Amino acid sequence: MKVWKTLEQKHPESEILKGVLDEADAVVVGIGAGMSAADGFTYIGERFNSNFPDFIEKYKWLDMLQASLYKFSTWEEYWAFQSRFIKLNYLDQPAGEAYIALKEMIEKKPYYVITTNADNAFYAAGYNMDKVLYYQGEYVRLQCSDFCHDKTYRDDDLILEMVEKQVDMKIPSELVPHCPECGAPMEKNKRTAEKGMVEDDAFNAQKDDYNAFLKAYDSDKVVYLEIGVGHTTPQFIKHPFWRQTRQNENALFVTMNQKSYRIPEAIKPQTVFLTDDIKETILNAHNN
Ligand SMILES: [Zn+2]
Repeated sequence: MKVWKTLEQKHPESEILKGVLDEADAVVVGIGAGMSAADGFTYIGERFNSNFPDFIEKYKWLDMLQASLYKFSTWEEYWAFQSRFIKLNYLDQPAGEAYIALKEMIEKKPYYVITTNADNAFYAAGYNMDKVLYYQGEYVRLQCSDFCHDKTYRDDDLILEMVEKQVDMKIPSELVPHCPECGAPMEKNKRTAEKGMVEDDAFNAQKDDYNAFLKAYDSDKVVYLEIGVGHTTPQFIKHPFWRQTRQNENALFVTMNQKSYRIPEAIKPQTVFLTDDIKETILNAHNN
């Protein structure tokens, strides 16, 4: 069993983060909603209120997550909301400081990123997109709402036109996109609990590439670094990271989260809990 020298002494959290990344042979990073929120892309408060005052007035939503899952009764209203949501959380999303700092730390090592977020934070921060697996889809891509075929589409101009031309929270009917195969309305390519999502060839190729990376480093000093991952969909990042750690005595599971979650006894000796502010810890680790 290999030794992690960083863990032999007590350090501030930012030094632990920097230390284990320096020592690692490879890094696998799992990013959840908590990372984007920590970097300013919040789903609540001013950012939500100022972009959707009309919808909030009508539906009394508490945050953008609740809003984004709402079942609209017409496609005109669905796309009026989604086009504004996609513009805010994808097309116009600026580069986040913590995302950039994290990239500069991990790119010194072989690395891979898996995320349950569907925003544009990685591209905006200049990540190598061949190394980022979007497990839950991307807001900007479209899929057939009947799942009739395994292709996804992207039409940024159409999204912006929907934002421009909507009136009273409805887009003109002729702007509702339709499936080129079956004619059903198109929706955004985002995994949901009840339907899943359309997984196209690019997604499957990237997923295979990610799994090959995990396999290539399955006995090395690997850091499985989980950032801002909650318990809504633990099957995509949290549980696989636990399994990978349990199967490799040289691996560490590092979890950055201000809430603490229960960890299985078997991997507790290989687990590092970082509970300070996510953004501050990353920026301090980067500047050390
Ligand atoms: Zn179709």
